[in-house]
Amino acid sequence: MEKTTAEKKQRLTELKESYETVKKNPLQLNLKRGVPGKNQLQLSEPMLTVLTPEDLYEETTADFRNYGILTGIPEAKQFFSEVLGTAPEEVIVGGNSSLQLMYMVLASKLFLGQPDRKSAWSQEEQIKFLCPSPGYDRHFNVTEKLGFELIPIPMTDTGPDMDEVERLTASDASIKGIWCVPVYSNPTGTTYSDEVVERLASMKTLAEDFTIMWDNAYVVHHLTETKDEVKNLLDTCKKYGTEKRAWMFCSTSKITFPGAGVAALASSKENIEWFTEILSDQTIGFDKVNQKRHVKFLKNKAHLMKHMEKHAVLLQPKFHKIDTLLSEYFKDDNILEWTVPNGGYFVHLTTQEGCATQIVEALAAIGVSVTEANSSYPYSTNPKDNSIRLAPTSIPVEEVEEAVQMICLCAEMVTLEKELQ
Ligand code: PLP
Repeated sequence: MEKTTAEKKQRLTELKESYETVKKNPLQLNLKRGVPGKNQLQLSEPMLTVLTPEDLYEETTADFRNYGILTGIPEAKQFFSEVLGTAPEEVIVGGNSSLQLMYMVLASKLFLGQPDRKSAWSQEEQIKFLCPSPGYDRHFNVTEKLGFELIPIPMTDTGPDMDEVERLTASDASIKGIWCVPVYSNPTGTTYSDEVVERLASMKTLAEDFTIMWDNAYVVHHLTETKDEVKNLLDTCKKYGTEKRAWMFCSTSKITFPGAGVAALASSKENIEWFTEILSDQTIGFDKVNQKRHVKFLKNKAHLMKHMEKHAVLLQPKFHKIDTLLSEYFKDDNILEWTVPNGGYFVHLTTQEGCATQIVEALAAIGVSVTEANSSYPYSTNPKDNSIRLAPTSIPVEEVEEAVQMICLCAEMVTLEKELQ
């Protein structure tokens, strides 16, 4: 039954009292950063001693200690081709960061131009990029700082709103591409449906060099028995003759060590040839010792999946705790909606409109840090002010529990206060 105004006022007074009590002894909890916990990093410590010197030059055509093999050692190409679902020759294995590869691809298209164009994007007066939102803030930063105008696209439960994407790409040649995190999207945990992949691959675009930045950062990062899979973008594009728009990325950042992993990209043969040429001016070769170390440790896709199960055992209780506590606390009202992802690194909270910023501020004042409200939107601008991202992976489950209790308190307090204004 709906509370009377007097009851609501009474409840708000109680909540404020509880809040002020916590404020006197602030907590120290951080749910800001989507990084693995220490116990996850430990899972890959054996990787540090798997290599022998001979691994680097015996049974190989080239010496991995030396310069060369720009696009990656054959076994690493084979490994990432299994992860991304392509042929090994459609893969480039890079350094430790997929984000950096993404930046390099876009910057190259911007300043140098693509094989099928007479000029680079930078020659055009206006360039725009589609940003499914909520999305990954670092993606948006890359395109913002490279000079693109960012266009938010609403996210649905099955991926970006494709009616909107198709409408825009068919009518505006200055729209050069779209950011996608197709599996366990950051931050909503959404996995794109087959229909969305088909539509992205087949849609008409006025820009002849339209680019799909397919960031498969969480492709093997399942948390439950339900293992989401996405339709293969490059294969689907080939069906429609649009394979040049498909640029797919992944890395071992959240498989082994984020600071010392291996990243890869996959694309059409023509794109790979073009990008290899561009890379050759920047480096004589990436870290092949680390590539070899990773392949010797992770072996192949089947073995990788076993390794990921160990991560899931450590992570799943944290996500389960969040869902259980929120379900219990908010069972009778509509103050908050939250995602229950099958994988990935985040839980996304949708607050009532106009409340997210204040909730995040209230949490900060009692020592609970979460990512800035609405930072998952281009320019951090969300007119609804209703988006909060939680990153629970790096802290122990007891701290997740404490933090969620405070989130419940602050969300109810701020929402009620606003309602009673
Ligand atoms: N892409 C997404 C969607 C991410 O969430 C992250 C890190 O949080 C990255 C890329 C970073 O990847 P890398 O460490 O390979 O640069």
